[in-house]
Amino acid sequence: MIADDLDRLAEEIKACRICVERPLGRPLPHEPRPVVVPSRTARILIAGQAPGTRVHLSGAPFTDPSGDRLRDWLGVTPDVFYDPSKFAIVPMGFCFPGQDAKGGDLPPRRECAPAWRAGLMAAMPQIDLVLAVGQYAQRWHMGAAMAGSLTDTVAGWRAVWARSSAPHVLPLPHPSWRNTGWIKRNPWFEMELLPFLKAEIRHRL
Ligand code: SF4
Repeated sequence: MIADDLDRLAEEIKACRICVERPLGRPLPHEPRPVVVPSRTARILIAGQAPGTRVHLSGAPFTDPSGDRLRDWLGVTPDVFYDPSKFAIVPMGFCFPGQDAKGGDLPPRRECAPAWRAGLMAAMPQIDLVLAVGQYAQRWHMGAAMAGSLTDTVAGWRAVWARSSAPHVLPLPHPSWRNTGWIKRNPWFEMELLPFLKAEIRHRL
């Protein structure tokens, strides 16, 4: 039943045109190309933000320098990362949202999560670790456990972990080059959180 639900949802998402035909505000400036990897066996969910230009072109998630950094954080090769039996990859917005006047990526389309996320999560009950990458995913998956800033939220990872179960949640910053300075300013991230993350990933593969 759940597997049927997941297949049905995956087909519906592939055909989704909400942001073109019923947008909240400006329509998507291009044809939808949802990039999402649902899974009926993966225990780990990567809850990212939204595809960027490279991912929009490739049609596969994290085929960019952010993906290289994320795989390094997880301690996995591309082969493992792209094995849908091991990782589900479900961003907060499935389609590339376009760019602002300065060339920065727009936020995830706000139509997407209300339309699809709860159904997808219900159809993947085996997920027992959610990596909430960035504030959009943290808002959805952590709710009131979010702190005031991304730094405070990620710094509170031990408490978030202890309070969450079925699935556990770990907050992470986005692995974009834009956060290189943040990583340098917060050395506990690489010294404490990443070793814990790698061990939890190893345990589930
Ligand atoms: S971003 Fe989500 S809701 Fe919008 S068209 Fe793509 S799949 Fe549909």
